[in-house]
Amino acid sequence: MEFVDLAAQRARLRASIDAGVMAVLDHGKFILGPEVAQLEAQLGERVGAHAVGCASGTDAIVLALRALEIGPGDGVIVPSFTFCATAEAVVLVGAVPIFADVDRESALITTATASAAFDAAAAAGVVVKAVVLVDLFGQPVDPTGLATLAAAHGATLIADAAQSYGATLDGASVGALVPVSTTSFFPSKPLGCYGDGGAVFVTDESLVGLLKSLRVHGQGADKYDNVRIGTNSRLDTVQAAVLLAKLAVFDDELDARRELARRYDDGLGEVTRPLTVDPRAESAWAQYTVALANRDDVAAAAKDAGVPTAVYYRAPLHRQPAYSSGLASDDLSNSEWLSDHVLSLPMHPYMSDDDVALVIDVVRRTAIAD
Ligand SMILES: *Cc1c(COP(=O)(O)O)cnc(C)c1O
Repeated sequence: MEFVDLAAQRARLRASIDAGVMAVLDHGKFILGPEVAQLEAQLGERVGAHAVGCASGTDAIVLALRALEIGPGDGVIVPSFTFCATAEAVVLVGAVPIFADVDRESALITTATASAAFDAAAAAGVVVKAVVLVDLFGQPVDPTGLATLAAAHGATLIADAAQSYGATLDGASVGALVPVSTTSFFPSKPLGCYGDGGAVFVTDESLVGLLKSLRVHGQGADKYDNVRIGTNSRLDTVQAAVLLAKLAVFDDELDARRELARRYDDGLGEVTRPLTVDPRAESAWAQYTVALANRDDVAAAAKDAGVPTAVYYRAPLHRQPAYSSGLASDDLSNSEWLSDHVLSLPMHPYMSDDDVALVIDVVRRTAIAD
């Protein structure tokens, strides 16, 4: 059994992916070829925003921060319970990460935890310029209260939607819920390519030109006209071709992920505590994650039964040596608690009925709910 079965998807899409990649090898426009613009148009149209491709989900956050002119000395609030890249991007632009706690039930940042992080920043004399909402495991953060809070402080909301492209909240799509969103096309994300890739989404079209300049060395009229310091962060044309083929079946795959999540809920709801999903949200189900009193025992039993599991994430970022210079909110206890209790189960659109039954069986036999 695979934790994410890319081979099954490859078998389904072999013909269309191969044709798309071969077309790029033949036309030879490997950098910002026509497939990139085509993909950006489709990605943006799906969600009702403007999409700009780039080299990774990490770069997407860096580019978003730079487009918002966030740099040395500025404060950026990020949840402590997230993948390291969320905070790493903040440090890469010279800004200071301020760690906020998350809700214990959903593992998402809330207005209350962000507010406590604003207090920690104020106490340290750091001015907060942005709050990064991480759509952990695929569920969008509800930005309503956070938008009011951020506006009161003159800060912008950025969504780190690396795990949530394809998700919705109240029928509105991730990518258009806040002014600036970023995503990743790392192979195991819900929409993944065959290497690294990412995109930035903006609702304000006037930021598109700036992002496109930043990804090509701060170019003006062309790349030999340098009007600002940029970087080299393009989405490869070959990867855009792979993504175009995958986008054709993406809705179908999202449905299969949601169906699997429902089956896990039905099979496991009484013996585990699945992280909660807002009834107004449709998660992209990057991960199906439960909280357990005996997480490590369940993981070991699963491994013996041939069921792969994963722990996202074993340490909150404020406990990681690399981020010791970040500012921590007073109370980060939910981030610490989740790091000790979460377990993610196999999640992909191609799970067989037998595999689903095996996962449910081993977890039911061993789990102690928290
Ligand atoms: C995967 C991920 C990233 C980074 O994406 P890459 O494409 O690997 O650089 C950033 N934030 C979160 C929450 C992620 O899951």
